[in-house]
Parts: sequence; structure tokens; C-alpha cells
Amino acid sequence: MQPIPYHRPYFTGFETQYLTDALGNGQLSGDGRFTKNCHHWLETQTQAQKALLTHSCTASLEMAALLIDVRPGDEIIMPSFTFVSTANAFVLRGGIPVFVDIREDTLNLDETKIEAAITKRTKAIVPVHYAGVACEMDTILDIAKRNNVRIIEDAAQGVVATYKKKPLGSIGDLGSFSFHDTKNIISGEGGALLINRDEFIQQAEIIREKGTNRSRFFRGEVDKYTWQDVGSSFLPSELTAAFLYAQLEHAEQITKKRLAIWNRYNSLTEELECEGLIKRPGVPPECEHNGHIFYVLLAEGLDRKTVLDEMKQHGVHAVFHYIPLHSAPAGEKFGRSHGDLSGANRLSESIIRLPLWVGMTDADQERVIAALKRAIEKASAKRAA
Ligand SMILES: *Cc1c(COP(=O)(O)O)cnc(C)c1O
Repeated sequence: MQPIPYHRPYFTGFETQYLTDALGNGQLSGDGRFTKNCHHWLETQTQAQKALLTHSCTASLEMAALLIDVRPGDEIIMPSFTFVSTANAFVLRGGIPVFVDIREDTLNLDETKIEAAITKRTKAIVPVHYAGVACEMDTILDIAKRNNVRIIEDAAQGVVATYKKKPLGSIGDLGSFSFHDTKNIISGEGGALLINRDEFIQQAEIIREKGTNRSRFFRGEVDKYTWQDVGSSFLPSELTAAFLYAQLEHAEQITKKRLAIWNRYNSLTEELECEGLIKRPGVPPECEHNGHIFYVLLAEGLDRKTVLDEMKQHGVHAVFHYIPLHSAPAGEKFGRSHGDLSGANRLSESIIRLPLWVGMTDADQERVIAALKRAIEKASAKRAA
């Protein structure tokens, strides 16, 4: 039997045609027709005031750090359980990541622990919507407002997901999406910055275009373009945008298919939860997620390596992540922990992410669950011994 990979990119079937169209348009550099189509789609779908394609979510977060003017010593509150880019983007500007613990049910930033982490140097809070399930945004918005700090949503995993009907990425001051190969909607490498405040729009265009006002020049608003401010090259080529547009047009269908697989996993693992062997992901009622990740948390004493190895023996490739940033070498060097991070430590050690990709069959899913059950039996026997 063929092994079941953790991830397999999904193609809508329109990518090749749009790539061919892009080649025929005579412009391969960024901000051509396909980029505009993507911007329009993103602005319509999210209601963000402005969407700008970038070459990655990492790049979008770096733009956000420049836009809110992070200075050396400024503190940025974020969960310890996240991808490195959440922290790196701010460290590049001399900012200090302040790591806060996560919730048991969603693995998101624990909103009840944010306020105590705020100091005079706090510049922003970065909620990460893990697995496309939203953080408790009303509480976070309230804390940010009372303490006069910015909110930058790391919505890398949150495309098409909502919190109280509001699209993720459109709730904070700024939001960032990822279209990396491993995400729901892909362009190989790719991302977008969502801007929800007018005051940032012009500056964002300048930062993205090497510190120049070339965007205004292209619109005919100025008769020449010059170096205006610090910036870099954050825009993707038209080839990336063409590929991405073929995906965005099918974003709703892709999400529906992923949710169907997610829901099926959720039923198939109910029994394991009833037996106290795992915990399933929690989705608060105000959150509509996008089926980005289905994970289980192993009960205490069940050795994860045993489970993963055993699943692999049965041809099922399950994975884990993240090493909490506060315990990583660069996290220790550049960041600071706030309070007890035992939740991040414990949860990150017990998580298993199951294969989830559009095109998986019911039989594939049954094989995954059969392998998981057998692997947990083996780990239980070890625990008893
Ligand atoms: C994938 C991911 C990123 C990075 O996205 P890139 O597009 O690869 O730069 C950042 N944050 C989180 C939470 C992610 O899952």
C-alpha cells in the first residue's frame, strides 16, 4: 500500500492556464493584472481596507514591524507556541518577543495572561490563529485599546476563517496571510499583508517597493518616482500571482473539502477521547475555522515518538510542531518569557498532526485512524509496563 503523506499540494486545474496568460501579458514583474486580481479578491473577501501581495507571510510580518515602527527594545507579545517568523520579523528590527502561554483548547495565545505581560515598552500584540481557529479577539482588542498597543494578526493559517463572522486578518491593525505550499491556499511561496487602517496604506506601498513611491507613479499620481523611506522588495512576480489567483478563485471549495475531512477525523477520533487517550481540538462557537490542521493531544504518559514511529510503520506520515520559541536557542537569546509557560511546553510535547489534504479518500482517513489507534495501544502498553 502507498504511504499516506502528511501533506500534498492541491491544484485547482486553472494554474497552468493562468501562468500561460501571465507569460502572454508581457509583464513578469509584480503588480500586474494578476496581482490586481488577487488584491481585489482579498479585499472583497476580507473587507480589509487594503491587501498587498508579498512573497511570504514572513515578509508581511516584516512589513508590519516596519509599519508600526518597532525600535530596539520595544516589546512584542506573542505565544511561545508559534512558527519562528512570528518572532523573527520583530527581532530583525531590534524588538524583543515576549512569550506568553497558550490555551489548552485552541493552542492559541491565552488572552487572560496578556495584560500582565504588558510594560511601558510594549508595542504590539501578535495573536496567532492556530489551525485557522481564531484567538479570543474581542478581549485582545480591548486590552490593546486600553494599553494603546497595536495588534498584528499572524493569520498565516487563517485564510477564509472567521471570528464572529469577521474574516481573520481583518480584525487587528494589520494582518498577514501565508500561501506557502503547506497552507490551504497556495502559490509555492507567497503571502499577503492586510491593512485595516488608512494611515498605513501609503507607507506600506513605499516599504514594499524598495522604499520608493513607484506604486503612485504607476497610478499616474506623481510624474516620477524616488526614494522616500526605508523599504525592501516584498512583492511577488506575476507568475506567483497568476498561480495564486487560480487558487483564490476556488478558496471556498478548497475550504469546504478540507472541513469535510476535518469533521470526519473529528468523529473518527471521538471514541479515543471518550477513552481518555487523546484530546481533540477545541473550536469556540464564535469561530468558523478552515480545516487547516487536525491534531490530537496525547494523554499524559503516552510517548509521542512511539506513536509517530508506529504510525510510520503502517505507512502513515503524521508530524508534530512547534518547538516552543522560549526554549529554542534564538528565543532564549532574543526573547523573554512572561510567567509560566507550562501549557506551551506540555501541549507542544503531546501534539500529533494527522495527514490532511484535499484528495484524501475516506479509505485514506480510515487507514490513518486505524494506524493511530494501533500506535496508541502500543504506547499504552509501554506506559503500563
Ligand atoms: C506558515 C506560517 C508562517 C510563515 O509563512 P511563510 O509564508 O512561509 O513565510 C508564519 N506564521 C505561522 C503561524 C505559520 O503557520
